[in-house]
Amino acid sequence: MKYAILGDIHANLAAFEAVLEDIETKGGFDEIWCLGDIVGYGPEPHACIELLRRYKHISVAGNHDWAAVGKIDTSDFNPAAARACQWTAQQLTAEDVNYLQNLAIKLRRDDFTLVHGSPRQPIWEYLLSVDDAYDNFSYFNTNFCLVAHSHVPLIFGLNREGKCFMAKIPDAIRLGSENHRLIINPGGVGQPRDGDPRASYALYDSEAQIMYHYRVNYAITVTQKKMMEHKLPLSLVLRLNYGY
Ligand code: ZN
Repeated sequence: MKYAILGDIHANLAAFEAVLEDIETKGGFDEIWCLGDIVGYGPEPHACIELLRRYKHISVAGNHDWAAVGKIDTSDFNPAAARACQWTAQQLTAEDVNYLQNLAIKLRRDDFTLVHGSPRQPIWEYLLSVDDAYDNFSYFNTNFCLVAHSHVPLIFGLNREGKCFMAKIPDAIRLGSENHRLIINPGGVGQPRDGDPRASYALYDSEAQIMYHYRVNYAITVTQKKMMEHKLPLSLVLRLNYGY
């Protein structure tokens, strides 16, 4: 089976479609594992939910998904994110709201735990340091955990001796061949934040037990034009150019 691992789509339909097309050129996929923040920031929340739901998929909830349906308030959001969130809430159909409201905060598939932020705090925690990752290894039981939220493609490993490391996600990594437990972040589809504006995602081939990481160009200006038309904050429009 092949699993498309997509995090932080953030209502960026052009990026989402480019990723799906890219996977097709690589032989396609059987199921999407979505790591949350389907909506928020971007100009096409409804279309992104609709497109995701056309595919066989599972998804966990992200902070923006919950904020858009009023499950959490936006007092911890920066002003631009909060404004985009209010706009997003107005674009959702009743069915979209129902879908987002019912997303789980943690899912398990095979040897993978899926969360948006971290196993310890699935909605809110950003995993960007070895120390935080180390603590989080005791909050899940599977060998592997998939996270998003930081929009930075990274892996954290814990070896048998209890040593933790952090690295840029490799282009391909064989899972299960070494004695490492891993926390893997595929990076953001719709709003990358590692200085590379291309959409970022992972593809897992369960037969070969290999996780691939890919970057894809997409029509950034198409998304930006729609954001401007909807008067979404300029800072959110511009950051797509820089991948931050
Ligand atoms: Zn996000």
